[in-house]
Amino acid sequence: MSQDIYVLIEHNQGQVAEISYVMLAAGRQLAGIHGSQLFAMLLGYQAQGLSLDIAADKLLYIDHPALKEFAQDAYLLTLTEIIKSRQPRVVLFGNTTIGSDIAGAVSIALGLDLASSCRYFTSDGKFVSQICGGKIMAEGNLSSGTTLLTMVPGGYKPEEGQSEHPPVIENFSPPVLDNLRIKNIKFIQPESFDIDISKESILISVGRGIQTRDNLELAENLANSLGGVVCASRPVIDQGWLPTTRLVGKSGKHVKPKVYIALGISGAPEHVEAITGSETIIAINTDPKAPIFDIATYGTETDLFDLIDVLVEKVEAAKAS
Ligand SMILES: Cc1cc2nc3c(=O)[nH]c(=O)nc-3n(C[C@H](O)[C@H](O)[C@H](O)COP(=O)(O)OP(=O)(O)OC[C@H]3O[C@@H](n4cnc5c(N)ncnc54)[C@H](O)[C@@H]3O)c2cc1C
Repeated sequence: MSQDIYVLIEHNQGQVAEISYVMLAAGRQLAGIHGSQLFAMLLGYQAQGLSLDIAADKLLYIDHPALKEFAQDAYLLTLTEIIKSRQPRVVLFGNTTIGSDIAGAVSIALGLDLASSCRYFTSDGKFVSQICGGKIMAEGNLSSGTTLLTMVPGGYKPEEGQSEHPPVIENFSPPVLDNLRIKNIKFIQPESFDIDISKESILISVGRGIQTRDNLELAENLANSLGGVVCASRPVIDQGWLPTTRLVGKSGKHVKPKVYIALGISGAPEHVEAITGSETIIAINTDPKAPIFDIATYGTETDLFDLIDVLVEKVEAAKAS
């Protein structure tokens, strides 16, 4: 078995998914620990251009029309071939729809150990995974054979996995990809009728503590004043007070704004896992024991209804001066 670290680059519609860069940053750390090389695996069709900013020692490129978009059986045949011939120490996949789908299949096909939801690696190469929706962090040793891991965001900055120097490309011949059971027929773009909260730099997030739909206006006022956007936890979305595009959390969007203001949000694991990439988290919650305070940069146990108007006034006064 080699000591090299392999990362599966996820891409869709000509865009490399951000989790790929997070994995490259993690893979770089692991390769340093093992004194080995970091390989990125790019499966695609006429897609070499996607490799330009990939921070890996080498890019293993596999070109085939059947790999143009993700399809489990074509990916499975290709990845099992690579892993059997290269015997990497670790293979990293995104803990995403694609990554979880293919990592499980590879694990079964090759009888390799798979650990999921890895957030980061310790300095001596143990993996740390979040379990129970992030309530517990579990540390584990790599198994003796090739270890497969799926990774969640939050442990590494995507920029750490990017480079101005493209990696050396090594072509890998695809296996025979005939008689596949799955063929992609058509890509249906999801309707985009709203802003993308994952790209916003100031988010005012409202939780059940906002109490009524009418009270959302308070959050809107604060958002307008700060140049931000309103988003929400699940109870607010479930009430239909905001569209699902504004949901922050496990079942919604992961966000990484400069400032995340949580108004009346308790900090359940399903919510918190999606906001840890924020630069600054400000929690406003009347319950001093609310878990949101455990991850907040700043917090106040003030009633949000006493605070918002004052905050808006202060922001406007600061802007005027
Ligand atoms: C499979 C699964 C997926 C899920 N996915 C998501 C998800 O994607 N996103 C998500 O958010 N949740 C998700 N949840 C739900 C999650 O477990 C929590 O139930 C939810 O996040 C709680 O939302 P909340 O904090 O707004 O409400 P609560 O937990 O009810 O908290 C409300 C908070 O407001 C505070 N408060 C009340 N009044 C005031 C006031 N006047 N001023 C200041 N503070 C006040 C209270 O002290 C309390 O802490 C998921 C759950 C499951 C099981």
